[in-house]
Amino acid sequence: MFEKILIANRGEIACRVIKSAKTLGIKTVAVYSEADKNSLHVQMADEAIFIGPPPVNQSYILIDNIMEAISLTGANAVHPGYGFLSENPQFAQRLEDTGITFIGPPANAIEAMGDKLASKKIAHESGVSTVPGYLGEINSAEHALEISKEIGFPVMIKASAGGGGKGMRIAWNEDGVAEGFQSSRNEASSSFGDDRILIEKFITSPRHIEIQILGDKFGNYVYLNERECSIQRRNQKVIEEAPSPFLDPQTRESMGKQAISLAKAVNYFSAGTVEFIVDSDQNFYFLEMNTRLQVEHPVTELTTGVDLVKEMIQIAHGEKLSLTQDQISIDGWAFESRVYAEDPRRNFLPSIGRITKYKPPVEFHDSANAIRNDTGVFEGGEISMHYDPMIAKLCTWSTDRNAAMATMRTALDSFEIEGITSNISFLSAVYNHPKFIDGNITTGFIEEEFPEGFTGVNHAPEALERIAACVAMMHRFAEIRRTRISGRIDHHKRKVGNEWTVSINNEDFFISLDPFKTGCRVKFDHGRELEIVSAWTPGQSLAEFTISGDLLLLRVKPISQGFKVEFRGAELDVLVRTKRQRELSSLMKEKEIPDTSKYLLCPMPGLITDIMVSVGDKIEDGQALCTIEAMKMENVLKASRKGTIKTVNVSPGNSLTVDQVILEFE
Ligand code: ADP
Ligand code: ADP
Ligand code: MG
Repeated sequence: MFEKILIANRGEIACRVIKSAKTLGIKTVAVYSEADKNSLHVQMADEAIFIGPPPVNQSYILIDNIMEAISLTGANAVHPGYGFLSENPQFAQRLEDTGITFIGPPANAIEAMGDKLASKKIAHESGVSTVPGYLGEINSAEHALEISKEIGFPVMIKASAGGGGKGMRIAWNEDGVAEGFQSSRNEASSSFGDDRILIEKFITSPRHIEIQILGDKFGNYVYLNERECSIQRRNQKVIEEAPSPFLDPQTRESMGKQAISLAKAVNYFSAGTVEFIVDSDQNFYFLEMNTRLQVEHPVTELTTGVDLVKEMIQIAHGEKLSLTQDQISIDGWAFESRVYAEDPRRNFLPSIGRITKYKPPVEFHDSANAIRNDTGVFEGGEISMHYDPMIAKLCTWSTDRNAAMATMRTALDSFEIEGITSNISFLSAVYNHPKFIDGNITTGFIEEEFPEGFTGVNHAPEALERIAACVAMMHRFAEIRRTRISGRIDHHKRKVGNEWTVSINNEDFFISLDPFKTGCRVKFDHGRELEIVSAWTPGQSLAEFTISGDLLLLRVKPISQGFKVEFRGAELDVLVRTKRQRELSSLMKEKEIPDTSKYLLCPMPGLITDIMVSVGDKIEDGQALCTIEAMKMENVLKASRKGTIKTVNVSPGNSLTVDQVILEFE
């Protein structure tokens, strides 16, 4: 076996690879940029080598720097993770030429599959079903229109070199073709330095289902079933599961077999993923092959029991596959939620900064349930604008789909991240969505179900009632603590009462509490009673309650006269007051919020790449104003109302900080 491997990546995936290397007794080398000096992958590895400044093109994807780290440490092999150099055939070739093993497929297979056009041709020739379209390059808007008409609308215009959901446009009719072609091409040339475009049929209401394969250097192949990745935002995956709730065994088998024929056609070895798009009749079409370990590989590991990274290392070392097709089955169900540093309530803008609190759910694996959290961050660490905004991949496994979802809901409820904003509330909203629960999903799910973006979940009255009861109980406890700490032996001190008015979103709940040793009986004025058990004490930010056998987890923060509560996609100010306090409060005027709507403020540190308006322009609600690039993503800032531009304070190329004024409206 290899003595030492270098991991040419960062973040959670570097940590993930280090774990499997350790189980094989292999020494590990991490590489890190200036921004990653203190990161988790550096701490976990046996050795760590500094490779340059934060921007990836000066560190993680600079082949020369990685080669130097290899020679400095004497590593025998390199695992590239995903992204970065993982699908770069020059890198694989360079390693091969130097006698270092690339833990991945052969360079020519990466090259053949790296291009959407070339790979589609090979797929077609090896009997794999491909999306109907034109198997050639499109070189002008006129050509695009001609081909689109032949294919029939709607069509998908794609960058041949594309990846990560970039350089893709849908044209619904003839009018959309010229613009789609141009913007796709621009994005392709700026993001990939390659502006070749292809056009294919846009499959409406499809699912994205992909097949994981493994192959060794002796021509043996297996497929490890599918992953359903239909929950996507802007063509990027957010939630994945295995198996797919949609496939029947025959379709699964034919997809698996086709994936293997494609792999054979390019003499593939190592782990790889063949992505398919599947229509509502289970017709499936090849999309692309990812010649690397995929972000969402844990759901496959949880349902097959195979350690994919370990297999990749063994295959690279020249060992035969450790299992045959008939040894691979589907055991239970698994979900993965990508926890991103972004603010779902502000159009999913990236959120950057120091993580002041990081308490993920505890990992475990027993016969009925499992929680796995692949992460690259820790409390006190920083989310930098230079890299991908992923904080963690929270996975759950159970014996069936409903149970795995239930475990995920609770796991998300208990995940605490502070200092930056995360998408946990949004993830919770998806796991509580009836269509998602039914497995009735397509790649359009997020866009269709959250057309106005994410504005928070409105919980049913019973849920609010339970929250009101729990918070009343917390408030009483906090009040008792507070009066004790003040230390006055005060005979006139009023006792903390048991009658409370709890207000949530201006709705009042009239509650009386009857405490016992481990909790409280809670009575509402309308007659309902709840018995709540809890060991919460003031200061704890995660509050756990049991209400007639059901677990309820709330993330709580004290505010004046109550608590700010976060629960499954809702953020609530829950105020707990005496009747008298409540009455007085309704006489008080609401504090006026300063009007900042005249300004467009920069929501995150980033680089202005485009300003689409100029002074004097009349703008409409929703009109695009400018683009900011941060964390490998372009974010378009839009107008939230009609108006006229008074000043433009920045220009493309400027680096901005949070809350810097970009534009002023009249
Ligand atoms: P797809 O390419 O089909 O979207 P994945 O969902 O597996 O497949 O996404 C992989 C993407 O993750 C890469 O293309 C890249 O944009 C991004 N990425 C690269 N490096 C890292 C990293 N170290 N941490 C997180 N994400 C990364
Ligand atoms: P990338 O390399 O960016 O991952 P893919 O070709 O894998 O690009 O496509 C990403 C996503 O875009 C798919 O998961 C799917 O949701 C959507 N998509 C791609 N091609 C089509 C198509 N022809 N019809 C409908 N949706 C598509
Ligand atoms: Mg893809």
